[in-house]
Amino acid sequence: MARHREAVCRLCRREGQKLFLKGLRCFTEKCAIEKRNFVPGQHGQSRRAKKLAGYGLQLREKQKVKRTYGLLERQFRTYVEKAERAKGPTGENLIVMLERRLDSVVCRMGLASSRAQARQFILHGHIRVRGRKVNIPSYLVDVGEEINLKENMHQNPMVLEARNVAQSQNTVPWLEIDREHFKARVVALPKRVDVQTPPITEQLIVELYSK
Ligand code: SF4
Repeated sequence: MARHREAVCRLCRREGQKLFLKGLRCFTEKCAIEKRNFVPGQHGQSRRAKKLAGYGLQLREKQKVKRTYGLLERQFRTYVEKAERAKGPTGENLIVMLERRLDSVVCRMGLASSRAQARQFILHGHIRVRGRKVNIPSYLVDVGEEINLKENMHQNPMVLEARNVAQSQNTVPWLEIDREHFKARVVALPKRVDVQTPPITEQLIVELYSK
């Protein structure tokens, strides 16, 4: 399946909640969830919200997380398998691993206003880890690493806008963020409790893949 590049708001509407896929727009009243929170499609508005249970519920939760982090099914499944093999609860391992992805970190740092934009910055070689260019969005950051934005991007309007929005967001406990210098240090690995947006019931995803 191709990665959704267009009409990403439809993905939020399908899940019935904000997945924050479109950067700044997500924080304004232009957000499609603010305007029309019903399932997309011709009959979306008239369709009563179905009460999902069992498999349906598990599937929706998986789609939500997959879409939030911008992953394809194959990639997502690999994360689940790694999470199963790691020590500790699979669900927690999964969320922590996804958060440690460089594209997610760049977004949490406030250098990009969506994970998709963060991915572009990384692919274009604008992001450094420990002073060296890393152009792999799936790179997993580790404790002690410093992530920063290349200097010639510091005045980029997209970066400045993202930074403005990030200033009004919650802090990220496991990152020491230096907004003024467009950098952050990983001071701890993320804990499950640190990941509040979007709300995720990871147990449903674990159940789905353990069938
Ligand atoms: Fe669109 Fe962002 Fe609102 Fe989702 S949260 S519907 S991506 S504007």
